[in-house]
Amino acid sequence: MADWTRLIRDIPDFPKPGIVFKDISPVLADAAAFADAVEAMAAPWRAAPPQAVLGVEARGFILGAAMAQALGCGFVPVRKPGKLPGPVLAQDYALEYGSDRLEVHVDALPAHSRVVVVDDVLATGGTLAAAVALAQRQGMAVAGAAVLVELSALAGRTRWMHPLPLLAAAAW
Ligand code: 5GP
Repeated sequence: MADWTRLIRDIPDFPKPGIVFKDISPVLADAAAFADAVEAMAAPWRAAPPQAVLGVEARGFILGAAMAQALGCGFVPVRKPGKLPGPVLAQDYALEYGSDRLEVHVDALPAHSRVVVVDDVLATGGTLAAAVALAQRQGMAVAGAAVLVELSALAGRTRWMHPLPLLAAAAW
């Protein structure tokens, strides 16, 4: 198996000066790398697949939907404000400057559905924590979370306050 992580590239000064952005696009563009990356994210959940993967907008949609197909389960989008057409539950969370919000349809899944929350990158951890909080407030049973890449220097894992597994397919 080729090493798909070598396709992740650094983009300096994106989205702001001083930030080095990990761009996963080349992994998605390469059929074998994409398949290997999705398999690395899905494999730990195969013994006990969830009822659905919750994917965080936008790259969490790509990886989460592929992971749901690999696990034979459903997919639920967790979206930025104002994008979902039906009634939503919202979760606000703090950013370095200001705040943001995630939303999920209130009727996305039956109560107590077992879910795995998915995003592309764990940076400071705020986004993933907000998505888990949203799912739990919604009455879902969160089995854990999966990301493609963990940026260890940003210590998102130290802010992961759950006893739940947080699985990263690759870490820097
Ligand atoms: P956090 O909330 O953990 O600080 O940031 C994670 C969120 O920001 C994820 O939704 C992720 O898509 C995005 N993000 C932050 N830094 C990066 C990065 O270097 N590369 C990519 N692809 N996404 C990032």
